[in-house]
Amino acid sequence: MNLIFMGPPGSGKGTQAKRIAAAYNLVQLSTGDMLRQAIEEGTEVGRQAKSVMDAGEYVSDDIAVAIVSEKIATPECSSGFILDGFPRTLNQADSLDKMLTAKGMEIDQVVEIRVDDEKLIARIAGRFSCSDCGAAYHDQFNRPKREKVCDICGGIRFTRRDDDNAEAVAVRLEVYYGQTAPLLPYYDAQNRLVSVDGMMDIDEVTKQIKSAINGHGDD
Ligand code: AMP
Repeated sequence: MNLIFMGPPGSGKGTQAKRIAAAYNLVQLSTGDMLRQAIEEGTEVGRQAKSVMDAGEYVSDDIAVAIVSEKIATPECSSGFILDGFPRTLNQADSLDKMLTAKGMEIDQVVEIRVDDEKLIARIAGRFSCSDCGAAYHDQFNRPKREKVCDICGGIRFTRRDDDNAEAVAVRLEVYYGQTAPLLPYYDAQNRLVSVDGMMDIDEVTKQIKSAINGHGDD
């Protein structure tokens, strides 16, 4: 089963992609995580991406397509993947179609997670993640069970994203609605789009996604 998760920043797409990937044994391909890793490693791609990402803008389609095509070609992805944060432009969607056709693969479903802007801003303002395993938390909505200890790996180091500040978030929302939201009718026209209500709590959204992708679970 090959899925795309779409939703504005703060919709919970990364958190849900992790849960669904674990439940269905899929590889999660987060372009945002890959780019943050490139920045940390100080690679040429990371160097080019840093200031663009901090400002809330998108990196070039060439960079995004290159990092995804490299990963999609790996054997782990042949048994199924979730694209989290890609494609983000119609041009990227077109490149993805070509990439998959060449490999005899296809996208089974595109999961859109819908959340109101007000809630997105509140969610982004308080979020942080485990520096060791990437597990996502929130100051208000999803604290670790033991104060300052990751529930998943026991790590004690946490990070907050450089682009989770008010100015960058405003740009990220604008760029999402301008450049990425037009992909929804594109996938809807192919009968691949399912939309879930991302305003509910984390477990409930996971449940909704599972029932929305039901029928593709054995692919
Ligand atoms: P995310 O972690 O998905 O919120 O992505 C964080 C940032 O990485 C975005 O705001 C963009 O600057 C960049 N990024 C991630 N994926 C893409 C993509 N497919 N195309 C362009 N930029 C991307």
